Amino acid sequence: MTGQLDGKIALVTGASRGIGKAIAEIFAAQGATVVLSYRSGTDEAAAVVSGIEAHGGKAIAIAADVANEQQIVALYEAVDAIGPLDILVNNAGVILEKPLLDTTADDFDWLMNVNLRGQFLVGREALRRMVGRDGTRVINISSDLSFTGREDFSAYCASKGAINALTKSWAREFAPHVLVNAIAPGPIDTDMLDLENMSAEWAEKEKELTVLKRIGTVDEISAVALFLAGPGSTYLSGQIIGPNGGSVMP
Ligand code: NAP
Repeated sequence: MTGQLDGKIALVTGASRGIGKAIAEIFAAQGATVVLSYRSGTDEAAAVVSGIEAHGGKAIAIAADVANEQQIVALYEAVDAIGPLDILVNNAGVILEKPLLDTTADDFDWLMNVNLRGQFLVGREALRRMVGRDGTRVINISSDLSFTGREDFSAYCASKGAINALTKSWAREFAPHVLVNAIAPGPIDTDMLDLENMSAEWAEKEKELTVLKRIGTVDEISAVALFLAGPGSTYLSGQIIGPNGGSVMP
């Protein structure tokens, strides 16, 4: 059987769970060799690798804090040992729910270090390797909140707005060889959204923000990532694609 990503090498950050895990799994199922990175979930990441291998796919897991430049350099040494990187999914991220007036400078720096500095460091090292190479792709994971903003989430929203700007700038800087796009999901059922601990009232509010009146699944995001990584998206660059149930209509 041939896959859409046969022979490709992909790096997916934050792939021990949630959206990153689903993307790593669909990429491997479509023939890519996947390097999945994570911060601390060693057992979870090992389980993702085992699951991929059990289905005949190829993957390895490497711990690397995306905000730590030395760890990212080491991560890329491991990627380089496999072969030239074709696809990056810049997915690792954290969220902070706090009113602005309670947000400390340390809170702000932590959030920006992971979400923004992390995508900068990981993206820069990927693009160093992709420059001038046709068929290479960078997919940054943003959020629908980058467009709408949200009370009590301003640092998170700002980090994602900056990721949209990185995406458009990199698309211009590395054209025409590297295609750079972002995915800006709406609410998706992962640990980050924490539906299990959410009040029924709040869950209803989340659904009401979409026109489809429901929370999305990780598979509804990984399908978009596969499209952006695969052969059908050759005329797309600098785009922020929104699998968000209609929460945002630019
Ligand atoms: P999640 O379930 O909380 O998973 C986050 C992943 O990121 C984990 O693999 C985690 O690894 C990793 N990670 C966190 N901090 C890291 C760091 N400093 N260095 C390296 N890896 C780190 O989150 P998710 O919902 O799948 O979110 C994935 C992306 O989608 C994020 O960028 C998020 O902002 C975005 N997004 C999510 C939603 C949503 O509703 N879920 C909506 C819009 C956008 P460990 O387990 O090892 O910590």
